[in-house]
Amino acid sequence: MWLADILFESASRHCDKLAIIFENRRLTYGALRLEVERAAAGLQALDIGPSKRVAVMLENGLDFVVAYYATLATGASVVTVSALLTVSEASYVLKDSTADLLIGGGRVWDTAQAAADGAGLQAFQLADLAEGLTYICPTPPDGRDEAVIMYTSGTTGKPKGAILTHDNLTMNALVSVGQGMFNLSPEDVVLCCIPLFHASGQSCLLNTGLLAGATVVIMRQFAAQAVLDVMRLEKVTFFLGVPTMYVGLLSLVRPNKAELPHWRVAVSGGAPIPVAVLEEVERLFEVDIYEGYGLTETSPTACFNQPDFERRPGTIGKAIWGVQCEVARIELEDRIELLAADEVGELVVRGHNVFAGYLNQADATRACMVDGWFRTGDIATKDEDGYVRIVDRKKDMIIRGGFNVYSREIEEVLSTHPAIALAAVVGRPDDLFGEEIVAVVQLHRDMAGISSSDMVEWAKRHLAKYKYPREFVFVETIPLGPSGKILKRELAELVARLST
Ligand code: ATP
Repeated sequence: MWLADILFESASRHCDKLAIIFENRRLTYGALRLEVERAAAGLQALDIGPSKRVAVMLENGLDFVVAYYATLATGASVVTVSALLTVSEASYVLKDSTADLLIGGGRVWDTAQAAADGAGLQAFQLADLAEGLTYICPTPPDGRDEAVIMYTSGTTGKPKGAILTHDNLTMNALVSVGQGMFNLSPEDVVLCCIPLFHASGQSCLLNTGLLAGATVVIMRQFAAQAVLDVMRLEKVTFFLGVPTMYVGLLSLVRPNKAELPHWRVAVSGGAPIPVAVLEEVERLFEVDIYEGYGLTETSPTACFNQPDFERRPGTIGKAIWGVQCEVARIELEDRIELLAADEVGELVVRGHNVFAGYLNQADATRACMVDGWFRTGDIATKDEDGYVRIVDRKKDMIIRGGFNVYSREIEEVLSTHPAIALAAVVGRPDDLFGEEIVAVVQLHRDMAGISSSDMVEWAKRHLAKYKYPREFVFVETIPLGPSGKILKRELAELVARLST
């Protein structure tokens, strides 16, 4: 399969249908194809084609879509560079990936240009590419060839470039459109307000939306009020976001119901959505939320609460079509021993969605690809019916006085407290217990005047002695990463600083 065919096939089937809306631009599939072919011809004139790599450093917008598909259309692969990187960080990615040229623009143009300079390659804006040339369709790459390299931020060491193949990404889009998952059709209007340089924006929204022949509305970033306005204006039917986005949307409407009659499907992923938040969204927005799970390395979706099955809030559903998810013994690093139903272990995945390895990092690849399985680094259980529950990330687990404490379980309980909008639980180094449990919380706007000791008392009543937080830190807003995920590492550092 060739990832570029997602656009080509939809353009031949739905030529006059609206493909992309971005700010004041509205492009049909036919017009998008023309723009992509024009840019691809310009890239071909710069000797870009099969076995070449083009780095794309752009914020969300139409240019991203054109640069992405134009690169693929030449037969080259795309290196998506986060638009939030500094010059030296972006330079590292360009050098590591040995990109042949960079496409940048917009607000990140200066950074992109300087990064390209540092890495010794040329940077272009789409408008710089030669016009009036004829696009020549290359021999399509093999499905197992690299299509996109996406860098994971890497909590330790340097960022790692995950190599995703044409088959990886095309299959993820195909399975998402149908196979009981999103059930998207050309009638749908999909909203994308998460970064396109991340796997979920790119695969679950852009590729999947275009494959379905739907209209994809792109927003530069998430802002709760703007999202509600766009959803009303463009009659959005499909929204996918991380849990903190749902918290943001709720804060604008609660306690009233929101009038969004076109909204048909809500998907949450990227981090666990507390059941209390899920239920409130379903009540106030009158929409069902389907929780999914994945990683960059799994293209990204691996599990989903398919509408065809009974949905089980609090779980990430079952493995998607063509993918196996199992739970393996955590302590065994160099081999996989699968555990029985309901046992706690590390979630491992195999199937069409598993990436081809990390670029230039054979050791990191070997560490996560064991006996044909990909180790996710997430602690999970799987029940008799195949439903998977994420217990915690391995790196977020707190060990207090020898007991394993799962931050996620505590956050789930804290989110039922009426004053708490968002909670994150982290460990703080402690002489006596090794680590102490600290909750960082963001209160609902009208809820001040609660003390840390009130909260500790409440938590004591709801959680066992070894796992209730001994301290609460109140913050105005919990820091979020570019895709809206809670930055736990930053919080752990904050909590450690506060205690010294
Ligand atoms: P980076 O790799 O850039 O540091 P990241 O680890 O968040 O950031 P992603 O690949 O986007 O990178 O995230 C994958 C992780 O997100 C999973 O390993 C898992 O911990 C978490 N995750 C995703 N979906 C869910 C979910 N529904 N419930 C719980 N955790 C989830």
